Amino acid sequence: MLKYAATKYQFKYHPLCKELKITNLMFADDALMFSNGDAVSMMLLLKSFSTFSKTSGLKVSSSKSNAYFNRVNEELKSDFLSVSGFKEGKLPFRYLGMPIQTTRLKKKDCECLVDKICNRIHSYGARKLDSPCAGYRRSPLVAWDTICRPKQEGGLGLKNQELWNIAMVGRLVDWIATKKESLWVQWVNANYLKGSSWQDYTAPSNSSWVWRRIFKVKQVLANGYSQGVWQVQQAGYTPAGCYEWLRGARTKVEWHNAIWECWNLPKHRFMGWLITHKSLHTNSRLKGFEMNVDGMCFLCGQAEETQKHLFFECAFSRRVIQELMKTSGLRLPDSDVLHWCIHNTDLKKQRKVKNALVLSAMYQVWQQRNKSRIEQLVLRPSRIALLIIDDMKKRIKERDKRKLTAHKLDWLGRLSFI
Ligand SMILES: [Zn+2]
Repeated sequence: MLKYAATKYQFKYHPLCKELKITNLMFADDALMFSNGDAVSMMLLLKSFSTFSKTSGLKVSSSKSNAYFNRVNEELKSDFLSVSGFKEGKLPFRYLGMPIQTTRLKKKDCECLVDKICNRIHSYGARKLDSPCAGYRRSPLVAWDTICRPKQEGGLGLKNQELWNIAMVGRLVDWIATKKESLWVQWVNANYLKGSSWQDYTAPSNSSWVWRRIFKVKQVLANGYSQGVWQVQQAGYTPAGCYEWLRGARTKVEWHNAIWECWNLPKHRFMGWLITHKSLHTNSRLKGFEMNVDGMCFLCGQAEETQKHLFFECAFSRRVIQELMKTSGLRLPDSDVLHWCIHNTDLKKQRKVKNALVLSAMYQVWQQRNKSRIEQLVLRPSRIALLIIDDMKKRIKERDKRKLTAHKLDWLGRLSFI
């Protein structure tokens, strides 16, 4: 109807919709309508809308609809609002949880998303995590760059959000490069490219920040294209493939299997991961930060508390491993336990159980070290060995519920501690 009005009457399109003659966009049960800001066009827009309502029987809820104006005089604005019954909307407004605005998104605009994620983490782990988000601005124990690597490369498998964002925006860059059939690509061609080649295009400095951002991503991905075709993946552009390309090749670490083994409890895996990165705040390290500590081991008082001493040399840790061997009936290493885990050549199931016990022992040593620091008391190594075995039994029962077959349980059943 509006297209008809544009040919028959004086309906003028919104300046940025003129080329493609766009009068409205629909998304699920929401509709957006556009027109130029002159009296005739705005009234024709309302008239077409009321004709549509009468014909289709579909009515708009005026109280839930908003009108947004840009450089429209006050008198015309108030006439439009009184005739339509709409309220005047102001930018930014929220649509599907995201702020919609014409200017650059600022940190405070996105804070609601951070709060939402933090609330979710709180609800998941309120009982087990110690204020997971309260200190999210504190510097992490391991560098973010390392944390954001896959587990095989020594990280925690989190995505590097900066690179992931480039890869996702890159999808839009690729749509333009491959001239994908979409209204948005047509709109971009009509309003920005205007017939010029995307390969040689430079965004004008007065264009919108969204467009300048897309152009910046195009420059970052330029080396991945040849003659407008994405060369990195044979099957064409995907954000996941682009992300890997942006990350670049990294070497795998030899210890990831020993640490992330499915039989290790999550808290033990995390402790093992921190130990491999030498990130625990041992006394020796705290002394290096010029804190008021003497740097000596809390558990034996015989040497400086480095990670190497605490987990691999300390008399207390060695006693824990000896007691563990006695209680479990398994042979375990008496020094450099982590190195032993990594190079453990036992058969698969035996290796998994032994590695889980060793990691559990390291976790307990760190717990006792903290206990000794705060409460000035520690558990006896024989008692710790029993705690470790209890943890192991629980884990085996958990696995049992999932996929342990009778055959696999047979071997476990022969272990003396089960
Ligand atoms: Zn010690």
